[in-house]
Amino acid sequence: MNDQSINFIDNSTLTAVKRCPLHAHYRYEMHWSPEDRPIYFDFGTAWHTMQDAVWPAICWDHVSQEEAYQQGCAAFDAKWTELGLDPHPSQAVAEEWAPRTPGIAREMLKNYITVRYDWLRYKITLLAVEQPFVVPLDPDDPTLFYTGRLDKVAEENGEIIAPEHKTTTVYRISGDHFASQWIESFDPNSQVDGYNHGLKMHYREKVKGVLIDGAMVHKKVHDAFRFIPSYRSTHQLEAWRQETLYWARAWLRFIETGFIPRNTNGCVNQYHKTCEYIGTCRQYNRAIHDLEPPRGMKVEKWEPYNLSLLHKAAQEALDE
Ligand code: SF4
Repeated sequence: MNDQSINFIDNSTLTAVKRCPLHAHYRYEMHWSPEDRPIYFDFGTAWHTMQDAVWPAICWDHVSQEEAYQQGCAAFDAKWTELGLDPHPSQAVAEEWAPRTPGIAREMLKNYITVRYDWLRYKITLLAVEQPFVVPLDPDDPTLFYTGRLDKVAEENGEIIAPEHKTTTVYRISGDHFASQWIESFDPNSQVDGYNHGLKMHYREKVKGVLIDGAMVHKKVHDAFRFIPSYRSTHQLEAWRQETLYWARAWLRFIETGFIPRNTNGCVNQYHKTCEYIGTCRQYNRAIHDLEPPRGMKVEKWEPYNLSLLHKAAQEALDE
């Protein structure tokens, strides 16, 4: 089977399709991306990179807390620099970014290691870091795959968990500072459901599920961390699979026919942010397939996964 006959779909694309198919068309078919990334996006990326250094350092290399901290900071600074940002910004720039600054990330990391060190070093076995997965979605179409990437996979007390690093600035003064609306946003949650599905398909009956590894990003509070168990039953996973298949088929049909409907309820999201494609959308009122990106946009493909590895994994699944 050639690569063209295999279809991959991921959570980001499906989320965009559900919000507005035309939005998904601009981002995932035309590959239009804003030239300026928001700071929350870069901070989340750098926080993940930091954890990708710290977890193996503690779990596999058994380094000290101080050494883990140094390695984590170096990883953060390297990623921050790669993203075109200054790891040691002026006070004015730091105030503009606050609370998502390198200084606050370092403070958070120091406390994170204090809180998590014994659990990482002695209680779990780290099995994988940034593990991509490819799983079939449709029993009637073996060429359609759902894909994603698990931040971490670990074994704890004989069960498989998938810790997912998430940061939030939604702050509550009392308790552990995590707002209930943020905690509750993970169940139901299509990304978490899909990652539980991917985990289950790979590790079968040993699976416990996804464990949100939450971290509060705040100007003054730098020691708030919380695990949020986000496990799913077989029934919940099957409900997710059926819904996901419905949306995946809809998206493939839109692409095939070239007719891409709008959902104008998605023009302003729940954070009161206006859709970045609204200018083009107002001008044409329908999908245009041969436009240059508008001002402030560039062509940048959404490719968080190594495509050749995905095709290899899909082919192996088809050969089974
Ligand atoms: S402006 Fe509204 S209708 Fe247009 S692409 Fe964005 S969400 Fe869709």
